[in-house]
Amino acid sequence: MVFDGHSDLLYDVTRRRMLGENRVLERCHRAQLLRGGVEGLVLSLWTSGTPETFWKETDCRTAAQRTARMMACAQAELAECQDWLVVVRTAREAERARAAGRQYAFLGIEGMEAIGADLSGIDRYAGWGARLGMLTWNEENFLATGVWGDSLRGLTALGKRAVHRMRQRGMVVDVSHLNDRSFQDVALGADGVVIASHSNCRRLCSVPRNLTDDQLRFIRDTGGVVGLNVHHAFVHEEAQKQTAEMLARHAAHMADVMGVEHVACGFDFCQYMGPGNEGVEGMENASQIKNLFYWLERMGMHSQELQMIARDNFLRVLA
Ligand SMILES: [Zn+2]
Repeated sequence: MVFDGHSDLLYDVTRRRMLGENRVLERCHRAQLLRGGVEGLVLSLWTSGTPETFWKETDCRTAAQRTARMMACAQAELAECQDWLVVVRTAREAERARAAGRQYAFLGIEGMEAIGADLSGIDRYAGWGARLGMLTWNEENFLATGVWGDSLRGLTALGKRAVHRMRQRGMVVDVSHLNDRSFQDVALGADGVVIASHSNCRRLCSVPRNLTDDQLRFIRDTGGVVGLNVHHAFVHEEAQKQTAEMLARHAAHMADVMGVEHVACGFDFCQYMGPGNEGVEGMENASQIKNLFYWLERMGMHSQELQMIARDNFLRVLA
């Protein structure tokens, strides 16, 4: 079974519910999740938005408005699927859901642009149920700078306090999307677990969203995990090498650098967002997750290592 540490399905939930649909997860996504062996996942609140998203057709102009709308849609949606999908906050609650034959979801925050300079927003995220949080998406905001921002800018003084506040509220600090300077600032001030929920290796695919070997080792030293991301452009620069096999090579490299106990899944399947969001060949949607493990097995990993990558490592961090 698999725990997927990063999913933007709430984006599809919100888009469809605003068109009048309901039971979106059950009707449109559940079958693929089951076929892929997904026992649980992290549902992230991504509201930074870019011009090409559905938000431009709506009356939600600011990240704060989009956040309020997405939280409301998520709440209504998750209430409708309680009979098969349970929102949890701890690994123990996740285990209980699994034992009862249900899937489970942790909640996460992908970018905190919406709270502006008001750190009480972190309390609201935690109150909504978020267990993981990223300070930025790709943008620069009051807290930190993401990969699209100025490379000389990192965590702000407020951002440092935000990290502390997250830890007080039981939220795991997730550095996927931070630029290198912000990563370094988090690293220097780190006094707890740091994860990168959905990032690959820069050694194999040199894009800013991926991590250097030093960054991988830093995450290892905090006891954190790095989740493998299927997004084609984060797996290889050349289109013909954007494959499930190549993604498995990222996993093998992470295991070499950090040890297999720090390698996890954060697939970020986004095929429902349309062109430009494709996963790699053989990992195009959640139903194909077994292909990754086929390649890992062929590379010589044994079943215990596969299970650590598939679920155990990430759940250990959320315990
Ligand atoms: Zn992301």
